[in-house]
Amino acid sequence: MSEPVAWSPEGTPHSPRFGDIYRSAAGGLAQARHVFLAGCGLPQAWAGQRHWRILETGFGLGLNFLAAWRAWKDDPHRPQLLHFVSVEAFPVAADDLLRSVRPHPELQPLAADLAAQWWGLVPGVHRLVFEGGRVVLTLGIGDARSALQEQDFQADAVFLDGFDPARNPAMWDLPLLKAVARLCRRGAAVATWTVAAAVRHDLAQCGFVADKAPGLPPKRDCLRGRFDPAWPLRQDAAPAAATPGSAVVVGAGLAGSAAAAALARRGWDVQVLDRADAPAAGASALPAGLLAPHASPDDNLLSRLSRSGVRMTLQQASARLCAGRDWDHSGVLERRAAPARVADLGEPGQPWQQPRPDGLWHAAGAWIKPAALVRAWLAEPGVRFTGRAQVARLHRLEDQWEAADAQGLPLARADLVVVAAALDSAALLPAPVALHPVRGQVSWQLHGGELPMPASPVNGNGHFLPAVPLESGMAWLTGSTYGRGETSLQPLPQDQFANLNRLRTLLPEVAACLQPAFDAGAVNAWCGVRCASSDRRPLLGPVAPGLWVSTAMGSRGLTFAWLCAELLAARLHGEPLPLPERLAAALDVARQIPRDG
Ligand code: SAM
Repeated sequence: MSEPVAWSPEGTPHSPRFGDIYRSAAGGLAQARHVFLAGCGLPQAWAGQRHWRILETGFGLGLNFLAAWRAWKDDPHRPQLLHFVSVEAFPVAADDLLRSVRPHPELQPLAADLAAQWWGLVPGVHRLVFEGGRVVLTLGIGDARSALQEQDFQADAVFLDGFDPARNPAMWDLPLLKAVARLCRRGAAVATWTVAAAVRHDLAQCGFVADKAPGLPPKRDCLRGRFDPAWPLRQDAAPAAATPGSAVVVGAGLAGSAAAAALARRGWDVQVLDRADAPAAGASALPAGLLAPHASPDDNLLSRLSRSGVRMTLQQASARLCAGRDWDHSGVLERRAAPARVADLGEPGQPWQQPRPDGLWHAAGAWIKPAALVRAWLAEPGVRFTGRAQVARLHRLEDQWEAADAQGLPLARADLVVVAAALDSAALLPAPVALHPVRGQVSWQLHGGELPMPASPVNGNGHFLPAVPLESGMAWLTGSTYGRGETSLQPLPQDQFANLNRLRTLLPEVAACLQPAFDAGAVNAWCGVRCASSDRRPLLGPVAPGLWVSTAMGSRGLTFAWLCAELLAARLHGEPLPLPERLAAALDVARQIPRDG
C-alpha cells in the first residue's frame, strides 16, 4: 500500500502519519536548492568528477532527488555518473510524486520518468536508472537505519531530511547518524534544514564538523558541515578505489559482455576475448529465454536476488533492444501443479506478482533473445570484441595481467581482468572453484498462428514461449531440460520428449496440439551447456589483485548478468550497491575462494 499524503488547498503535502509537512507548497524547490544542494557545495563540488554520490535520508516526494538531477542536467561540468541513494520506510504513490512537481515545470519531465519506474517497491533495495544510466537512484525501502546498514559505498555528500526531529526522532538519533557516518568518505559534505541542538551534538559525536549557516527566508538558519573525524578511519588506510584503465574480459556471453559494458560506461577501455568467432556462442546462443522473478512462500534468497536482477535487466532491455524483435515485455504467467503460494508483496504501484484464476501473473516478466543483449552490451562505446582468442593462462606482469594462449603467446594485457568464461573459467583462476555443467535442450518450431496458443509466455515446471520472431518466422519454444553434469552439444531425442512431457502438465491443450509434430520428429532442438556453481548462485568478486570473476549464471543469465556486472563496477569504484549487502554477499566468490583478511 502507498503511504497517504494529505494535500492542502495551496498544495502543501502533509503526512498524516507524522503530523508534519513534507515541505512548504511553493518554497520547497528553493529550499531544496539552498539547504541541500548549495549546502553541500553543489553543483561546484562535483565539477569534472567521474562520479558523485549523494546520500539522503527520507526520499519522501523525491523533491531533493529531482532538484539534484535537474542541477546535474543543467551543468556542463557535471560528473559522468550521478548516484543518488535514499531510504524510505513509507513510499508514496506515483501520483503524489507527480502532483508534488506541479508548481515546477522544470522538474515535470524528470518526475514523469521517475513515476514510470515507481513500481514494485517492496522492502529492499531498488535501482532506478535515468539518462541512459548516468543518473542512478538506489532506493532502500525500509526503516532508515537498517536500510543504511545494508549499503556499502562512500558518499560525497549527505542530505539529512526526516520530518521534524521532535516528531520523528528515529531519523535523527545517534544510531542513525552513525549509520550515515559509516557511509561517508572523509571530507563528505553534510547539509540539513534543522539546527536542533541534539542533532548537532550527535553529528559532532559521529565525526561531522557542522555549523549554522543562513537559511532561506522565512527560515533563519540551516546546517552545513563536513565529515572529518579527529580519529583515523579504516578508509584512510584502504587502497583507493580503482581508476579506469585497460580491462580484458574473458568470455563474450551474457556475463562477460555485461561486465564489459558496465566497465566501459565508467571509462574503462575494454577488450573482450572469446575463443569463438562471434559473441554469444555458448549458452547465450539460446534463441530466446524467459525473464521472470522467482516467487516463493517465504520470499527466499533467490526470490529477492531475482527481483533485483529482473528489474535491472528490464531497464537494459528497454534501453538497448528493439521491442517486438529482440524482446517483449509480455508479462509471464506462472502455473504450477500445486497452486503457487507466494509471499504477499504489498507495495505501491504496479506489483511484482498478482494471483489470477489461471496462475500467478508476473507483470515484470518478459522474453529476451540473449544474443541480442550480448551484442548490445558489446556495442557500448569503449568495448572491443576479439574472437578466436582462446585464453589458456593469465599471469601477472608488474602491475598488469597478461592473457596468453595455449602456446604461451600473449593475446592481451590489461590493468584489470574479468574472467567470465563459464566452465573454462576454472582453469584461469589462481585457486580452484567448483563449476558444474548443466546441459539444457529447448524444443521449437515455426508456426503461422494456426495453433491455439496462450496469450503470454507461461512458466512453471518448464516454460513455453508462444510467439518469438526468429529470422525464419514466428516460433514457439519450450524447455528446458536440466542435465546436471552433461556436456554433449548433440540434440537428444529423449530430451525432446522430456520437453513435451513437461508441456503436458504446463499446458495440456497446447501439448496435445503439438504432439503430432514431436511424434513426426518435425520439432527443432537447440542445446547448450550452462555453467553453475555448487549452490546455483553466480560467483562474482576479486580473486587476486586486479583479477575478478563473474560467472556461474546457471540457467539465469538473463536475470543475473547485468546485476553482477553492476555489482562488480560498484565494488571496484566504491559506488552504491545495486542490492542489499547481505544479498551481494550471497553472490560473492569469497564463499568459494576465501579472501585474505
Ligand atoms: N527528502 C524528501 C523530498 O525531497 O521530498 C522529503 C522527506 S520527508 C521530510 C521525510 C521522509 O522520511 C518521509 O517520506 C517519511 O516517510 C520518511 N521517514 C520517516 N521516518 C522514517 C524511518 N524511520 N525510516 C525511513 N524513512 C522514514
